[in-house]
Amino acid sequence: MSVTAAADVLIIGGGPAAYTAAMYAGRGGLNPIVIEGYASGGQIALSGHIDNFPSYPEGIPGAELGDRMREQAARFGARLVMDDVEAVDLNGPPFTASTMGGDSYTAKGMVIATGAKARRLGLPSEDEFEGRGVCFCAICDGPFFAGQRVAVIGGGDAAAEEALTMSRIAASVVLVHRRDQFRANASLRALLPEVENLQIRTPHVVSEILGNDMGVNGVRLRDLSDDSEITEPVDGVFVAIGHDPASAMFQPWLKVDEHGFLITEEGSTATAVPGVFAAGDVTDPRYRQAVTAAGAGCQAAIDVERWLLTQS
Ligand code: NAP
Repeated sequence: MSVTAAADVLIIGGGPAAYTAAMYAGRGGLNPIVIEGYASGGQIALSGHIDNFPSYPEGIPGAELGDRMREQAARFGARLVMDDVEAVDLNGPPFTASTMGGDSYTAKGMVIATGAKARRLGLPSEDEFEGRGVCFCAICDGPFFAGQRVAVIGGGDAAAEEALTMSRIAASVVLVHRRDQFRANASLRALLPEVENLQIRTPHVVSEILGNDMGVNGVRLRDLSDDSEITEPVDGVFVAIGHDPASAMFQPWLKVDEHGFLITEEGSTATAVPGVFAAGDVTDPRYRQAVTAAGAGCQAAIDVERWLLTQS
């Protein structure tokens, strides 16, 4: 396949990490190419309103925040390509990415910022009420439910943390998990029964999210021990059943953890392949915030710029 374009740095992704890396790389004179995907903006574009990105005291619609980052990256010369990468070759430098659109891009350095998607329960009512009561991040959307009743779904560290976070914000929390044993770490597990306004329902699954034009007003839960069903009145549902990082195509070359998150060197965005750096949610099971992803994108651009200096 012939090369469509070559650059010093190829940035793969279309969220805060990718656009921030592009902004820094552009300002640094590296003429980056950003293959941003067809659905640019990343997870923030799916968030209705973002209240916790610094410098927006009134908050900002997620899609608008994504567009502004994009514009800022373009202002510094980043070439933005609306296409999805379907394969990479990291036997470099140079490194190559080929796209669904049939193009091929090559660069001396690469920043991977492909993000992670929240896992979903798979219920039609989850889609119907997304953004109207169904949420995937308590730190992001929890404050919209101050004084209300919420359900948190899941049994890992994220669900336990989200249930504890929401117990400080909401009037009541019901934590729903499909098994009696929680996967969350021992210290989080020990805290859960201590919280007065937190009720634990196991082994239960959500069979339906209920609501009307105003949004969510309940969840129907099935008790797996006897197949009985109950309805819990809630105003919000936080689905915290894990994330799937978009790392599959890089795995032949790069190390991942047991959930597929790319592993970078401690205190750096460097991966196991010199010249390839990773930033944002694809490397981060812990924070997953627009602002932390943007910060990591900045670090990756600085790292790749320094690495390029060692190559000339
Ligand atoms: P996780 O550890 O994979 O846990 C996902 C939970 O969701 C599990 O309890 C799982 O149930 C449940 N689940 C999965 N699919 C489900 C479905 N379709 N319906 C109902 N329940 C479902 O994910 P995570 O909690 O997001 O954590 C991911 C990684 O990030 C972990 O390594 C975690 O330690 C790390 N993390 C760390 C911190 C921290 O250090 N403070 C905070 C958050 C996350 P089963 O248990 O039955 O499989």
